[in-house]
Amino acid sequence: MSHSIFSFVLPTKIVYGPGCAARLADELGALGAARPLVVTDRGVAAAGVLDKALSALPRGMAYRVFDAVEPNPKDVNVVEGAQAYRSFGADSILAIGGGSPIDCAKSIGVLAANGATDIKAFEGRDARSKPPPPLVCVPTTAGTGSEVTFSSVITDSRNKYKMTIKNAFTAAKTAVCDPDLTLSAPPHITASTGVDALTHAIEAYTASCAEPISDAVALHAVELICGNLAAAFNDGGDRVARDGMLMGSLLAGIAFSHSDVASVHCVAEALGGMYDLAHGLCNAIFLPYIMEYNMEYCERRYARIAKAMGLDFGTERDGARAAVAAVRRLAADVRLPPFASLGVAEADYPALAAASAGNGSNASNPRPMSERDYMDVLKAAAGG
Ligand code: NAD
Repeated sequence: MSHSIFSFVLPTKIVYGPGCAARLADELGALGAARPLVVTDRGVAAAGVLDKALSALPRGMAYRVFDAVEPNPKDVNVVEGAQAYRSFGADSILAIGGGSPIDCAKSIGVLAANGATDIKAFEGRDARSKPPPPLVCVPTTAGTGSEVTFSSVITDSRNKYKMTIKNAFTAAKTAVCDPDLTLSAPPHITASTGVDALTHAIEAYTASCAEPISDAVALHAVELICGNLAAAFNDGGDRVARDGMLMGSLLAGIAFSHSDVASVHCVAEALGGMYDLAHGLCNAIFLPYIMEYNMEYCERRYARIAKAMGLDFGTERDGARAAVAAVRRLAADVRLPPFASLGVAEADYPALAAASAGNGSNASNPRPMSERDYMDVLKAAAGG
């Protein structure tokens, strides 16, 4: 087999393992960070995770906590965070939380570096920025992989849609990934964030721009996530399962940031932007429907995914169908609610379909997908 030309750059240093948050002081020191703005949210603080991470900072270190990040972080959160960065005279950013604080921190860094006040100016994949201040990310959910991706997803609050700011300059300098910090995530967060990670791995492996390194990483992510999500959901204190999930989500993040996500994310981001719903839940709802839509274009790859899931099957077609069935089963096992229960108005389907088709990752879906195709998927999910 011959390969196409591709490049693989991972600009983020990864420090991984149970208890590794204790190394935060060393990692900040290595970057010369002396006055970090700590970006987090109130749920992370209330769970005691923020204090646990901050206890590892050097004694007497000056830092300011900015905890006003909302889920599906909004452009206004970024502006407020950038003001906090400037007024404190910070020299670096430490993000502690799920994808929302991490994405907000990435965009705060972009505004701070450029003396800018509107993150929209940096939307897309080609925006230019001065180098942002050093960013250290400490994930507390096993889901987005944002600690190792080049993206920051921010909601345009006026137009109710999710912008992607994607470029190497948004990547963290260091990711400190301590699975013990995910132990307190409640079951519904474990469930939705876990299926988010699975979606990253499956879409990365089947995207039109997949390459051999992202393939290898994505398949191992599928194995880890399918082997550990139900256990982490059933017993949040299961440290082995939490470890498997955080590594699975990290690998899935590496996979999709070098390949891409695809149509599941296009519709999930449209829905999350309009209805402010949990991102992982939106992915979980549409993943099996888009897999069915894509079936004839990637039977072989779905069968390979089934193998990574540990399923037994006969033909490739059987394996591909078994993978879709396993995704449905997993979402049911972790009690994710159906689309019909979310109160999405049918009158909004055309706008959702248009936003999905207009998403930058639509072209990465293995089977071309038009507005009309998205309408069909929305209607199928509503009836399912
Ligand atoms: P989140 O960060 O919004 O967190 C969800 C909830 O869980 C919050 O209420 C938070 O307080 C709570 N929480 C987090 N960690 C906890 C812990 N250890 N214990 C108790 N509670 C905890 O959720 P998320 O799914 O991690 O992030 C979603 C966001 O990430 C979305 O905006 C999505 O678009 C974005 N995203 C970004 C990327 C990327 O590459 N940049 C990839 C996927 C998703």
